[in-house]
Amino acid sequence: MLDKYIVHQCRNPEYIEFLKQLVDNKGLHNPALGITKMILAGNSMKMSTKQTQVFKYYVYNKFKDQRCKICGVHIPWKDMADAVCSGYLCYTCFGKYAE
Ligand SMILES: [Zn+2]
Repeated sequence: MLDKYIVHQCRNPEYIEFLKQLVDNKGLHNPALGITKMILAGNSMKMSTKQTQVFKYYVYNKFKDQRCKICGVHIPWKDMADAVCSGYLCYTCFGKYAE
């Protein structure tokens, strides 16, 4: 069974942008990398059940609902790639920390 929610997320432009950055930053390894590239190519609907599970376990679940380590705010997808690099700080706390 295809996880409709995952497929839906894979059409969210902010999520797609995050996945692109994740691939560019070499934050993924196969098989998750190959599946993510498939999604970026617009083929999320063609994922097999197994591919969806791998993606869900190794990519989606890993980054969903991440909160800032300092203030606890939920980190949006558009800030997630930066947050991964900063050790999960939100945009505001990262600004303070960097000063
Ligand atoms: Zn914060």
